[in-house]
Amino acid sequence: MRKWTTEAVSRLVKEKLLGDPDQEVHGCILDSRQAQGGEIFFALPGERVDGHDYIDAAWNNGAVLVIADETRFRGAIEPRVPEGKALLLVESVFKTLQELAQYWRMELKAKVVGVTGSNGKTTTKDMIYAVLSQEYRVYRNKENHNNELGLPMTILNAPLGTEILILEMGMRGLGEIKALCDIGKPDIGVITNIGTTHLELLLTQERIAQAKWELIDALPEDGVAIINAEDQFSVEKARMDLKHQISYYGIEGAFAEPIIRGAKLRPWRELGTTFDVGYKNQKVTANLPLPGTHNVLDALAALTVGTVLGVSLDKGCAGLSELELSRMRLEIRRGVSESVIINDVYNANPVSMQASLQVLKERAGSNRSLAILGEMYELGISAESGHREVGRALSNLGISELITVGKLAEEIAQGARLAGFPENHITVTYSREEAVKEALRLLALGQGTWVLIKGSRGMRMEEITAKLER
Ligand code: ATP
Ligand code: MG
Repeated sequence: MRKWTTEAVSRLVKEKLLGDPDQEVHGCILDSRQAQGGEIFFALPGERVDGHDYIDAAWNNGAVLVIADETRFRGAIEPRVPEGKALLLVESVFKTLQELAQYWRMELKAKVVGVTGSNGKTTTKDMIYAVLSQEYRVYRNKENHNNELGLPMTILNAPLGTEILILEMGMRGLGEIKALCDIGKPDIGVITNIGTTHLELLLTQERIAQAKWELIDALPEDGVAIINAEDQFSVEKARMDLKHQISYYGIEGAFAEPIIRGAKLRPWRELGTTFDVGYKNQKVTANLPLPGTHNVLDALAALTVGTVLGVSLDKGCAGLSELELSRMRLEIRRGVSESVIINDVYNANPVSMQASLQVLKERAGSNRSLAILGEMYELGISAESGHREVGRALSNLGISELITVGKLAEEIAQGARLAGFPENHITVTYSREEAVKEALRLLALGQGTWVLIKGSRGMRMEEITAKLER
């Protein structure tokens, strides 16, 4: 954000300022420990702690202006504001955060790229950043900050002079993307795919598609929608959208003709992929430091955003080759008995599990492959079918061994069985310890096994990885 004075913020918010009106503020925080000097601290109630308990901490750590809930101070004597600090009491801290973000969004005059989808949002956001940074001053959300707090915080922290702002948008229900778009006002919208996550709150695929499409609905008339040609639900939605320009990307072009097309995927070393990219009459070679078709698709989405904004394919690919991800999702670790572990423990749903299983198969080649899969949470009524679907995929891919962890994950084993996966290569376990014991036994049987470890965040699958590492 621009440097504002405490007084200027109070004028924007239309509330009376307590304390020093002439202090400069820049940067916004929600966590008092992140204060470095000069920030606005928004005192918000969280799941475990309440920001209002950390007002003094925020000031002490260097924050200058605190925005807090007025009802907390009602009836009390006027709060004491330390020297050189300021306090704004507002009706709703949350609304104030959003209003300030809305204001700064318009002031910024940057083009905004919104990214949503069931899987690959963060990855795609980071790839778009890599492509666009070749030509523009770009700002993006940190890590996975994609909700009603993360998005306005990202906007507020975007520095003056930002030319392009990339905003990841997450959702759990209808109307949530729309609310984020009301603040972020995207000019370009990317939908990575419409799969099966968050079914709990949405229930039908049609409603998930509708919820994702709120991003495209929010685009201005000259806005561009960037859509995955391999994703049936996205393409169906796109065909019904007559208002926007749709740019498809893809490999096969299963459901629509891509304008940016990836071809001849060549896995290299442990975790990279080389592939050809075609656009109009140009053809270039891209080197992506990530494995798997799904990552190539995310990269194609990023290159498509690049072409819309005038970044050449060559430059875009140069950016991708030096990609730095917010957080590595698929990490390679060396395991016992010369095994190679694909550590993908950050989270899981049926779509991402299948993507990772594909990577396991692709990388293992003719070596033995072992999938250690934990429960996937938040699948609602699709819990059983979602787990079984993964089992079926695993069987069809020809993975050698399966260890499931947890009660729900039994259904992965069941799905595999039903698809003809041999019973003597399945082990069902109910704890990480049991899974580790079984995995160590299997790994000791031969050298050079490739292992995938994945499950929902709450499964803490990383504890299994730690025990199998060399
Ligand atoms: P979240 O909902 O947690 O924000 P996200 O949509 O940001 O997730 P990422 O964090 O980028 O997704 O990726 C999560 C996992 O999804 C990756 O580890 C990978 O296995 C898988 N993934 C990434 N891109 C795709 C894709 N295009 N299709 C299917 N799976 C994908
Ligand atoms: Mg994300």
